[in-house]
Amino acid sequence: MATGTATSTVTAPQTTTQSFSLQDRVAIVTGASRGIGKAIALHLASLGAKVVINYNSNSTLADQLTSQINSNSIGKAISVKADVSDPAQVKALFDAAETAFGSPLHILVNAAGILDSSYSSIPNSSLEEFDKTFSVNTRGSYLCCKEAANRLKKGGGGRIICVTSSMAVALRPGFGSYAASKAAVEAMIKILAKELKGTGITANCVAPGPIATDMFFEGKSEEMVKRSVDESPLGRLGVPEDVAPLVGFLASDAGEWVNGQIIRVNGGYV
Ligand code: NAP
Repeated sequence: MATGTATSTVTAPQTTTQSFSLQDRVAIVTGASRGIGKAIALHLASLGAKVVINYNSNSTLADQLTSQINSNSIGKAISVKADVSDPAQVKALFDAAETAFGSPLHILVNAAGILDSSYSSIPNSSLEEFDKTFSVNTRGSYLCCKEAANRLKKGGGGRIICVTSSMAVALRPGFGSYAASKAAVEAMIKILAKELKGTGITANCVAPGPIATDMFFEGKSEEMVKRSVDESPLGRLGVPEDVAPLVGFLASDAGEWVNGQIIRVNGGYV
């Protein structure tokens, strides 16, 4: 029977609790000093990964997180300063990650991002803010993904995960540059997943809705915050810990079959 012929050519992976472990995997998490990136770094460490905590300016917070991971014996971590929009600094970040643990790189989680807290409409926005937003969110993701695609371990376990945003489909006024900067990354990741054919490396986006972090609250009136809560079917803002487990799953062997996807983790916001 045709079905029998087809199944006999398939080697399906066995899913065990081991499949969710990140033991002996090395992960770079950009933008991990605060917010969503921090929760992701902690979660990956709890699954056994050795984590490179990237930050741009907040060395104190990055070092605190690194100490927390190392001292709790929940994992191993180092912190590395790098502006993701700068190609030389991105290369140096990957160099540092490669030498830190004497083990190949497996996982890139690109969580670094910025949002212009003036929430200007496109006609009232400045070119400077547009360029800045694209420089970190889009150029930064491109640079990190390019480096990861060339340097992550091939043959299984390689994972690229970009944190984009549900705003790319919610399309609210005042978020023009930001939504466009994230939509561009989502298009790029779908293509990258196909271009990585044969490497065993998967590429996906995780797109949160409103999450209670510095980025979310900066520049927002109480009314704006309330609107986001009211728009949520679950009647609350998300927290970084709502996002991290999905990233952990995608990073694991169990997540291999999810590839080239945009997964919206937003409590039903959009
Ligand atoms: P956050 O609390 O403002 O943290 C931003 C992180 O990005 C910090 O670790 C920051 O490092 C780092 N960063 C900023 N610019 C950087 C650069 N040029 N190079 C390297 N690192 C840089 O933001 P968040 O809310 O956690 O957001 C994390 C990601 O989720 C972003 O990509 C954001 O667009 C996305 N997101 C957030 C929400 C939300 O509602 N919060 C919703 C959807 C998507 P320093 O501490 O050193 O400045």
